[in-house]
Amino acid sequence: MTDVAQGPRVVPESGLPTRVTVYEVGPRDGLQAETDIIPSAVKVELCRRLYAAGVRDLEITSFVPPTWIPQLADAADVAANVTVPPGARGVALVPNLRGLERAVAAGVREAAVVVSATESFAQANLNTTRERAVERAVEVIAAASASGIRVRGYVSMSFGDPWEGAVDFAVVADTAARLRQAGCRTVVLGDTIGVATPGLTTRVVQETRSAGVPLEDLALHLHDTYGQALANVHAALRLGVAEFDAAVGGLGRCPYARGATGNLATEDLVWMLHGLGIDTGLDVRALAATTRWLSRIRGVRAPSNVAAALAAAGIDAAEPHEQEAWLA
Ligand code: MG
Repeated sequence: MTDVAQGPRVVPESGLPTRVTVYEVGPRDGLQAETDIIPSAVKVELCRRLYAAGVRDLEITSFVPPTWIPQLADAADVAANVTVPPGARGVALVPNLRGLERAVAAGVREAAVVVSATESFAQANLNTTRERAVERAVEVIAAASASGIRVRGYVSMSFGDPWEGAVDFAVVADTAARLRQAGCRTVVLGDTIGVATPGLTTRVVQETRSAGVPLEDLALHLHDTYGQALANVHAALRLGVAEFDAAVGGLGRCPYARGATGNLATEDLVWMLHGLGIDTGLDVRALAATTRWLSRIRGVRAPSNVAAALAAAGIDAAEPHEQEAWLA
């Protein structure tokens, strides 16, 4: 019998990356999609716990106008109070040049921008046309690069769109290539509504690589809405993709399917990667303990399977009085 306290039994599969970057989006993408408003001090503590669990690639907040996303209206306060450990990244999403200025003023040294593969999502979520969103991102990338700030670029709706349905592979690949040419260090293909399956994932990655985005600069942001996220990660691993987004506890519901699951849970991703013998640098028990800590504070059950399984087995490393100690 496997001792789950030690993690999954490790059986490597040949041909997969030996090391994967797990890019944590819980504090930003996760919390922006949840309906409750979390106190800034809890967000700062969440980031501290994530870094302590081994996270080195963390998106901490978003400098969108506060009226757009009230959940992240405290971006400047959070960014100014999060201590990014040496060698780690603390990234902030910025929607435009004004957001970049605010982020830099708060001490942020790495930014992320979002564009859309579809016209409908650009209009609904980015408040502009698809083309203008790309132009705006290119302006931000140029300004950030001039200040020595790296930029990560998301292409939302890369696998399907709630209004338009199937998305043209060529448009996704071309949009990703434009972000890459503009200077994005990493281009992230987002399955914003979780409709990808392994064959579709494989095809979109291949088309994007063919358009000039090297696999080492490509990441996937997958949602588990239909329970396909880990299967899609595995398909991408087989192609050589070595960076995946995830949110601790599966934070972030699907904004287009009420009640449905959104972001892939970090614990679930890390459990599979470790089972494949892939190094992530992350402590899955500390992640699960972080999920339990936040669930208690919010009074919301997290959708992570691994966090639930470890909690049921009584082996997620939470200290009995840690919440009380922290609140004091
Ligand atoms: Mg997401």
